[in-house]
Order: sequence, then C-alpha cells, then structure tokens
Amino acid sequence: MVIKKWISSLLSLFFPRYCTVCKSVLLQQEDVLCLDCAVSLPRTQFHLQPDNAMEQLFWGKVEIRRATSFFYYRKGSRYKQLLYQLKYKGRKEIGESIAATMTSEIINTSHFFDSIDVIIPVPLHPDKLKLRGYNQSEWIAKGVSRIASLPINTKSLIRNKYTETQTQKSVWDRQENIKDVFQLVSSSELCGKHVLLIDDVVTTGATLTACATVLSAVPKVSISFLTLAMVEY
Ligand SMILES: [Zn+2]
Repeated sequence: MVIKKWISSLLSLFFPRYCTVCKSVLLQQEDVLCLDCAVSLPRTQFHLQPDNAMEQLFWGKVEIRRATSFFYYRKGSRYKQLLYQLKYKGRKEIGESIAATMTSEIINTSHFFDSIDVIIPVPLHPDKLKLRGYNQSEWIAKGVSRIASLPINTKSLIRNKYTETQTQKSVWDRQENIKDVFQLVSSSELCGKHVLLIDDVVTTGATLTACATVLSAVPKVSISFLTLAMVEY
C-alpha cells in the first residue's frame, strides 16, 4: 500500500494530471475535476424534482417514469470541455468518473435508482463506433453501473441508421432525422423491467424519444432517462 502510494506520487511528479475544466494540476485524490470545479459544477438537481424541465421535454411524446440530468450545459460554459473531451478527444474515462460522482449524489439524496432493473446506453452506429473507438454513453453507463450495482444491456437495442450530426438541425429536422434509427432486437430480457436509458447530453430529447418509442414495444416495460448534461439555452 505504501509502495503503491509512493509510486503514484512519483508518477504524478513526472506525469501530472490536469483538471479537465480549469487545467490546474490535480491532487492525488482528485479525478477529472479539481475540487473547486467539482463543487461549482452547475447541477440541475432534477432527481429531486418530479415534473422537472427535462421530464417536460417528453410530455406528449413518450411515456416515461423519471428523467434527470447531472448538470446544465450552457453556451460558453467552461464545463463544455467535459463533454467535448469525452466525445471527441478519446477521454472516455471522463464519462465513467463523472457518472460515478453523479450516481453517488443521486443515491445519497433520492430514490431515483430504487426501482431501476437495467441500464441501456444509447447505442452508436457500428460505423461510428469503429471511427470513435468507443461509445461515450457506454462509458457513462459503466460509472452508473459500478456505483448503483446495475447490469448494463448493450444487446437488446441497436442503431441501424447512420445519422449526420444533429447540431445544425432544427427541432423538426432532428425528430425526422432520428426516426426509425433504433431497432429492438430482443425483448424477452426487458419484459416487465424498468429500463434506464443513458446518453451524454439531452438537447431537444429527440434521440431519447426515438429510443423509448422503440423500447415501449416491450411488454410491461417502463422507462426512465439519465444524461450527464442538459443543454440550457
Ligand atoms: Zn478545475
């Protein structure tokens, strides 16, 4: 143990780790974010609020039990680095780490996870998976799974259409673009289960709506959503 600690401090001397947001050197017990940035992360606390702004995105579109997101993603926010690095810079461990922190906080303050049976990360198209090398939502799911002790299912729901980037599209275009993208390949494992769908960020809710619409074909299934961030205009 002593040797392990000694090696780790020696490593940090030669290979310092930096806060993803403010770039200050991380202390040994810090991970991804320094304490200051972790404390000031703009949390939504949606898990404490039934009918919260994220749940309202899905009203009249698809039936869900609950939805929550860890933090607000505002234009120009310095926290945008978290999602950018996670998605485009190969820093998959960011997803795992922030998701673990998020899950601990939710478990400590609410019953959000109590009835969840299984986690499904929003799938990537196989071509995109090859290109990026990993599915960022799956890494978020890993962090949730580790803390909440829940199984991850990556087999039942697949993505069979390659969609262009959604960022430049209108709300209507996004919904049209994402229609028929997902497919349910087996429903037996999910029958009667409460499924938690996980994505990195929610904007209009089109992707999660499309996934949930497909999943709702499973007999007696119920669905909740969890994302790391929610875009706030
Ligand atoms: Zn920092």
